[in-house]
Amino acid sequence: MDKQGFTTGIVHGDRAVGNEHGGVHQPIHTSVQYGFERVEDLIGVFQGTKKGGFNYARQGTPTTAALERKITSLEEGVGTICFSTGMAAITATFLTLLRAGDHLISSRYVFGNTNSLFGTLRTLGVEVTTVDAGAAENVKNAIRPNTRMVFVETIANPGTQIPDLSRIGDVCREHGIAYVVDNTITSPALFKPKAVGASLVINSLTKTIAGHGTALGGAVTDTGLFDWSAYPNIADEYRRAPAKEQGLLQIRKKGLRDMGATLSSEQAHTIAVGAETLALRVKQSSENAFALAQFLEGHSAVGKVLYPGLKSHPQYEIAQALFKGASWLLSFELLNAARMIEVVNALKLPIKATGLADTRTLIIPVAPTIFYEAGAETRKAMGISDGMLRLSVGIEDIDDLIADFSQALALAA
Ligand SMILES: *Cc1c(COP(=O)(O)O)cnc(C)c1O
Repeated sequence: MDKQGFTTGIVHGDRAVGNEHGGVHQPIHTSVQYGFERVEDLIGVFQGTKKGGFNYARQGTPTTAALERKITSLEEGVGTICFSTGMAAITATFLTLLRAGDHLISSRYVFGNTNSLFGTLRTLGVEVTTVDAGAAENVKNAIRPNTRMVFVETIANPGTQIPDLSRIGDVCREHGIAYVVDNTITSPALFKPKAVGASLVINSLTKTIAGHGTALGGAVTDTGLFDWSAYPNIADEYRRAPAKEQGLLQIRKKGLRDMGATLSSEQAHTIAVGAETLALRVKQSSENAFALAQFLEGHSAVGKVLYPGLKSHPQYEIAQALFKGASWLLSFELLNAARMIEVVNALKLPIKATGLADTRTLIIPVAPTIFYEAGAETRKAMGISDGMLRLSVGIEDIDDLIADFSQALALAA
């Protein structure tokens, strides 16, 4: 079939493989064991010669496999492995592809738990350098002979910094380094990291792809661009697979199978249904975030507004060139931080909650919550002031959101 549009592919993909009774969704397969008429087929599944077979649900079920196909198609990759959470996908990727003595370069602005995971990697003997990835030079200058991987996020939370994604891709290609891009905030509806040369793409499915705050999940997708036959850390038993498959094969066996952070079929189904409206939701929430950002930028009680769709954003040009929209993530500073509690409590629509990419707008004061443990000094170094508020903008009607912010901000005037 000709290449279909993004949403057409999502909503018609499941029945393309032919479901029982003409079901238009993939069924939820709850079996842990998978049996065979002929023992040769059981052996074939174990040895990888019988493709697409299942043996034990920790390594996947037909339902998680269907979601993996869906994510692969959205990211235009060659394969995907799903996990129980986004952090599980990131952890499995690092722990299976990096060894003691290796060096990892990461953007300084990454998800807090990913940053905390770097501490664990260091205790295991992996060197981790964090740089301001807004300039590709900083990544290039940090490269050492033992550098194996570069890790960045498309839009950082809460500061909305964007790395120089294309040029970092060039640097990684020139040096034969694996380039891992966490696409959670943008999702493939706004950006495909394959376009900037990513080797592996991470998505926390919990966020933009599932979209309703009802399921946890994570995925790692191989774009097919990286030459795993030249990567030193692939175990001999996986060298027998075609070069393109070696990276993911090692993550599936050593990561998913051995570490065991498996996505359940029930959650995979919920995520697959959520994904059907991915493009529609992201379009609406990005438009809302842009309108709200413009409103906030013009408000006298508001200081800095951090949103990549605004001309005032330092990486506005990159966002325009690479992303289909500037996403639902928006942060801003209340000039009078002493009024913060009052203002947030006065908001009627946004839910006072952590979490990202729900259909409902969520709001959280950054300094006393997600960056509390980091301490005042780190917050200062990261540009997080006491009055900073982070919004995950939902799909509500924009007039309702603006009216609500308008009445609440009046208290800080
Ligand atoms: C939330 C998040 C993760 C982790 O995902 P979970 O599904 O919550 O484990 C990873 N990266 C980014 C950018 C995130 O926002």
